[in-house]
Amino acid sequence: MPPILSISNLSKTYASGFSALRDITLDIARGEIFALLGPNGAGKSTLINVICGIVTPSAGTVRIDGHDILSDYRAARGIVGLVPQELTTDAFETVWNTVSFTRGLFGLPKNPAHIEQVLRDLSLWEKKDNRLMTLSGGMKRRVLIAKALSHEPRLLFLDEPTAGVDVELRQDMWRLVRRLQSQGVTVILTTHYIEEAEEMADRIGVIRKGEIILVEEKAALMHKLGRKQLTIQVNGALDAVPPSLAAHGLELDGQGSELVYTYDTKAERTGITALLTDLAAAGITFNDLRTSQSSLEDIFVDLVRERA
Ligand code: ADP
Ligand code: MG
Repeated sequence: MPPILSISNLSKTYASGFSALRDITLDIARGEIFALLGPNGAGKSTLINVICGIVTPSAGTVRIDGHDILSDYRAARGIVGLVPQELTTDAFETVWNTVSFTRGLFGLPKNPAHIEQVLRDLSLWEKKDNRLMTLSGGMKRRVLIAKALSHEPRLLFLDEPTAGVDVELRQDMWRLVRRLQSQGVTVILTTHYIEEAEEMADRIGVIRKGEIILVEEKAALMHKLGRKQLTIQVNGALDAVPPSLAAHGLELDGQGSELVYTYDTKAERTGITALLTDLAAAGITFNDLRTSQSSLEDIFVDLVRERA
């Protein structure tokens, strides 16, 4: 079986001459939740819009379950559900009609039971006869999700699904994503909220200035790039870090009571043993030790800064 999504050497230069995607190559496995993380303007929406046939690529190929998005557009598009970043809805339609109509656009027979299930899953059932213009922004976003699920896609794109939405919708969305995954749906979401990638994704890709600069299993990413800090609570207070400990790169807190040692979790030696030996030699005693691990946020900030 081919990967559900296979992108090879994909580039996009807009008519303005702006190069929004540069030589992107990426495979997405069936059933994974993939988060594409990147700052505003990195090319996330462009990438999704190319895959979904809204923006034409300048070079490269994209296959969805083996179907080329250009030469085999209908088959490719039928597999995909897209929740776009921008809210666009037909104001005068009812929730039920707009979601049912979208299913029809994909040439599928009516399936009221499926539409009902989708609307119930998204807490839209009570609103099914309401016109879209009467709905709140959060409800409109739920309708966009319902539309994207109307034709039972096997690959779902969520483009910044939770930007500016309330906590309740965010949690509903995360629950929905997990349920879809358990049904075998592959989910690709873009976000500039690190917390979201950390919470949801099996794998994370980082995109910056149109280039994928890193793709990694979330756990491996956290492990590989993660740093740990060891905080040592000393007895009494220090005026400064003793010169004999200079090699360890310690930081002293404002009160002089905590020494912070930063080490690399991927390093062969953490240096902790040597540090503790040197502390004893310097006559520094301590009453507590604790470690903390950097979050994906710290990692992401470091990563983007390093490449800047
Ligand atoms: P993201 O979704 O990561 O915020 P986008 O894919 O929307 O980024 O945009 C990537 C870059 O391409 C941005 O610099 C944006 O201004 C530019 N861009 C997007 N759409 C167009 C367009 N139609 N014409 C020219 N430039 C565009
Ligand atoms: Mg975007």
